[in-house]
Amino acid sequence: MEMKEHIRNKFAERFGAPEGEFFASAGRINLIGEHTDYNEGFVFPGAIDKVIMAEIRPNGTDKVRVFSIDIDDYAEFGLREEDAPSQSWARYIFGICREIIKRGGKVQGFDAVFAGNVPLGAGLSSSAALESCFAFALNELFNDGKIDKFELAKIGQSTEHNYCGVNCGIMDQFASVFGKKGHLIRLDCRDLSYEYFPFAPENHTLVLVDSRVKHELKDSPYNKRRESCERVAKSLGVPSLRDVSLAELNAVKVTISDEDYRRAKYVIEERDRVLAVCAALERGDYDEVGRMMYATHEGLSKDYEVSCEELDFLADLAKEIGVTGARIMGGGFGGCTINLVRKDLHDKFIAEATKRFAEKYGHEPKVYDVIISDGARRLEA
Ligand code: ADP
Ligand code: MG
Repeated sequence: MEMKEHIRNKFAERFGAPEGEFFASAGRINLIGEHTDYNEGFVFPGAIDKVIMAEIRPNGTDKVRVFSIDIDDYAEFGLREEDAPSQSWARYIFGICREIIKRGGKVQGFDAVFAGNVPLGAGLSSSAALESCFAFALNELFNDGKIDKFELAKIGQSTEHNYCGVNCGIMDQFASVFGKKGHLIRLDCRDLSYEYFPFAPENHTLVLVDSRVKHELKDSPYNKRRESCERVAKSLGVPSLRDVSLAELNAVKVTISDEDYRRAKYVIEERDRVLAVCAALERGDYDEVGRMMYATHEGLSKDYEVSCEELDFLADLAKEIGVTGARIMGGGFGGCTINLVRKDLHDKFIAEATKRFAEKYGHEPKVYDVIISDGARRLEA
């Protein structure tokens, strides 16, 4: 059954007539720009055609009543800080309510039923989709749409920080709120300015391959990478690697450790690759986009050292099959690769990658086709 019909039926069954209003928001990919956010560089995400959808109706009380179709669970909670629900999925919605209220916005009781098809924990940010769906809806229903879009993204981010224990950046919520069909959004992590670029290839598709491995490492590699970047920036007397050129880095090469040098080199090259990809997209040069994606993978693997055997295997395999571009998407040490695949190679790539990965690692990867689509929005009833 279609997702919307399913939600409509459940809503009627649980809460009766009349119907509520329908809202949706999307998961996201990041085409290029990895480990750049904390170096004041660029990221380049877009919303995808995998969504969280909700039917919502104010209920005239001070209670929220919400049913999750996918988890098959119901939660009921008030709107004061001490009313937090125990279920982790419901805390995302509670957090959105609280963060709107904390900012002086209005939220009253409502009834809601929601479902989604963003795979959970696969690196496509189902949590941001959930947050921005409700943040967008509650803005429309109770605040006449007056909260601006950036604030909606920040409300989602603060929800993760304050109610879900995840200390994330702004990219996921930003992409989910600002996503636009056929466009990627280059976000400048230094000043949060952004620009849309067309991404609507005629002959290519995007395919995510989820290795379904996650290597837990003892020392915190994420913090160590950050420290390397900060050390190099400091030794160059700048606040971040954003404004450092490769020549400037090379000039201090002998005074810093080889490890720090390689970390900084990756970050500087990655900043330039994002810009090169944007320029390539404006020319419709998807082969160049693909070359940059492979270069990012190489940098993440050899210089930044956040890859792992399984992800290197997937990127190498993609190259061997003739895929246009492939790289790790996300922080690394497991998770997905994002692949820019010529349409005529699509089926072959998926069949080969699935088979050969399973032969080597004993389980099949999960594969998702994604199309760059709209982010948070109201749906026609
Ligand atoms: P992701 O990388 O997909 O964002 P997270 O662990 O950050 O993974 O968020 C996943 C959590 O978001 C789930 O455990 C659940 O609490 C909530 N969530 C996401 N999608 C749904 C859904 N369709 N129904 C209910 N809860 C969901
Ligand atoms: Mg998440």
